[in-house]
Amino acid sequence: MILIDGKKAAAELREELKKEVTDLKTKYNKVPGLTVILIGDMTPSQIYVRNKEKSANEVGLKSEVIKYPDTVQEETVLEKIEELNNNDSVSGILVQLPLPKHIDKQKVIEKIVPSKDVDGFHPMNVGNLSSGYESSVPCTPLGCYLLIKKIEPNLSGKKAVVVGRSNLNGKPMTQLLLKENCTVTITHSKTKDLKAECLEADIIVAAVGIPELVKGDWVKKDTIVIDVGINKTDKGIVGDVDFDEVSKNAKALTPVPGGVGPMTIACLLKNTIECFKRSQI
Ligand code: NAP
Repeated sequence: MILIDGKKAAAELREELKKEVTDLKTKYNKVPGLTVILIGDMTPSQIYVRNKEKSANEVGLKSEVIKYPDTVQEETVLEKIEELNNNDSVSGILVQLPLPKHIDKQKVIEKIVPSKDVDGFHPMNVGNLSSGYESSVPCTPLGCYLLIKKIEPNLSGKKAVVVGRSNLNGKPMTQLLLKENCTVTITHSKTKDLKAECLEADIIVAAVGIPELVKGDWVKKDTIVIDVGINKTDKGIVGDVDFDEVSKNAKALTPVPGGVGPMTIACLLKNTIECFKRSQI
């Protein structure tokens, strides 16, 4: 079984991006800039944002974090986004989720101009992705896609099962696999026989949020299994896939932690660079 090393893949991607930023600096005499808006003092969000800033600096991007208390008015955030939309030195804008209840998440997402939407959540980018046009792609599914392609460069005709249909993970993942000519089944909490669906798959991507849902006897030999889940349990952080069981069957499997997670931030940097490049055309 191939243990898919997300840390190594992310480090390789960051190295490629670092070179690209150096080339862009030579060509345009400026570097892509990422601005993150962080609202409130939730510890996980603060850790994510700190990691994003550190990685952005590492590859040579200009990065900035704008912090607000969780009492900030929605209008203040929307005005700041408008200002960043019009600032040429900002290539990508990300508002760290979740937001306090009094702030309308969708309003915030839609305020970010699609060309700077590095999370790929704006309806325009969602539509472009599903229409097969150029768009920002949500970072976690993009990371999964790059990991799958490392194992199997030609996905044409493969059967893929995506477990979970969230806007963040399952739906964009489905679009990416469709674009590669996979035959994709998207499953969810109302799916009748998830085990039977998974047993058909050459590729399984699990993004559910249920610890170790995908069992060893759900996976046929030679299946690539990507585990997006991050679940806190008594035995520590585990994924949506039963690692011990599935590793006996699968062709390749991502561990949790150390699989998809590290790729997510690297893909955010990739998206920022792509937004910058598109803005220079
Ligand atoms: P979400 O928005 O809660 O969506 C979960 C999906 O799973 C829903 O579509 C739900 O179906 C489906 N589901 C629930 N129970 C199911 C069952 N028994 N069988 C099949 N499908 C079922 O979750 P998310 O935001 O996509 O996150 C999923 C997991 O990924 C979480 O553990 C999260 O922490 C993790 N995550 C990891 C990263 C990373 O960087 N590695 C990034 C983001 C999220 P319905 O639509 O029918 O409710």
